[in-house]
Amino acid sequence: MSAYFPTMGLEIHAELLTRSKVFCTCSAEFGGTPNSRCCPVCSGLPGTLPVLNQKAVEYIIKAGYVMNCDISRFTKWDRKNYFYPDLPKAYQISQMPRPVCLSGTVNINVNGEDKVIRINRIHLEEDAGKLVHDDVNRISLADYNRCGVPLIEIVTEPDFHSADEVIAFIEKIKLLLQYAGICDCKMEQGSIRCDVNISIAPKGSDELGTRTELKNLNSLKAIARAIEVEIERQEELLESGERVIQQTRRFNEQLGETTAMRSKEDAHDYRYFPDPDIPPIIFTEEELDEIKRSIPELPEQRVARYVDEYGIKKADADIIVGDKRVCDFFDAAIAQYDNPKAIANYIIGELMRRINLGEADMDALKFGGAEFAQLVEFMQTDKISQANAKTVLREMIDKGGSPKDIADRDDLWIKEDNDLLAKVVDEIIANNPKPVEQYKSGDQKVFGFFMGQANKALKGAASPKAIQEYIRKKLSE
Ligand SMILES: [Zn+2]
Repeated sequence: MSAYFPTMGLEIHAELLTRSKVFCTCSAEFGGTPNSRCCPVCSGLPGTLPVLNQKAVEYIIKAGYVMNCDISRFTKWDRKNYFYPDLPKAYQISQMPRPVCLSGTVNINVNGEDKVIRINRIHLEEDAGKLVHDDVNRISLADYNRCGVPLIEIVTEPDFHSADEVIAFIEKIKLLLQYAGICDCKMEQGSIRCDVNISIAPKGSDELGTRTELKNLNSLKAIARAIEVEIERQEELLESGERVIQQTRRFNEQLGETTAMRSKEDAHDYRYFPDPDIPPIIFTEEELDEIKRSIPELPEQRVARYVDEYGIKKADADIIVGDKRVCDFFDAAIAQYDNPKAIANYIIGELMRRINLGEADMDALKFGGAEFAQLVEFMQTDKISQANAKTVLREMIDKGGSPKDIADRDDLWIKEDNDLLAKVVDEIIANNPKPVEQYKSGDQKVFGFFMGQANKALKGAASPKAIQEYIRKKLSE
């Protein structure tokens, strides 16, 4: 057991899903030929004037509401001065004393325990460009496409004491932003990025230790590992009588170690001052109410509704709502066939199983919720057997198409062929005198044996109900 406990706070940067950048009309989309989505404003030419994107302001207010923040009625923008090759203006337009959102809360659940994480602030700023380092030619290239993409920075209080809490929080933030429709949260594309402030202190101590900041963490796995490694490093320092230096550190995933990037700056190093080009904003209650009303149903309410109205188990509702793509798919399916329980079961039992096996990809499904719902309905109404439904689903995953067309083409319908049913079951009963004897002497369990045999032989030609009834009839003769 360690003699120390860790304390962490997060700074999460999320790119907003606006079509254009925050201070100009260039496209804010990810990627593109380097420097093809730039203009004099976002490439920082002298004499240009920024114009604030109204949608970006609306989105940060939504972010504030979904994280239960207070929205400032008066907000303004500041220049954060620093020189870096990916920031051609040599200052970033950000917000210092008057951010749009202040003091919020987000509920997380970690290994079954509920916890509230406090949000210190959320502010709106512009993203910087990207440097591409060419090690072969020993040069660095600047791509300014990302310059000026609207960014919100979510700053938490130091409320985390384990990597599990950090991961649960980031996953919750991703869900909230996705459901609110303001960020796609693609970590691999950098549309959500996370810095972790981390310190350790002796157990029982009221004071926090000196913190370091871990930067450039681009996956949940990297974040969890980096936290673990940095806690170990700080413990070793303190154990050997040394001290932790306040600095920004980089995590090297290959080597599994953190290394110093630079000593940590304080706010005054950036010489913040009010940006003279962007006027402050005063929001009216009406404007804020309208934005609040436009926020769609959020994950927690959805789970509650699925449980209360549809009778879906809480654990199942959590799984469906836990991935917005799956949730949208589910909604499309129940719009086609009003049987939420059966659809939820088949999504979790079959579709997600295949996704987890790598057979299907939620981002590239060749069919929609409506087609999936038809398949579930065919099963529920005894038109197709469970085994054949699996065959149809496999075909839909591989090639797409409607379940009806596939079942027609491959002759997969239940035919209710009573003659065939009688012939097959009579044969099974004649060939298995021992289980028949057992059943007649009161052993109900062998009934499953007859069902299994009949299902196998009939290959979906009769419904389970018809098979069951006929076997029961024969066995009681
Ligand atoms: Zn531009």
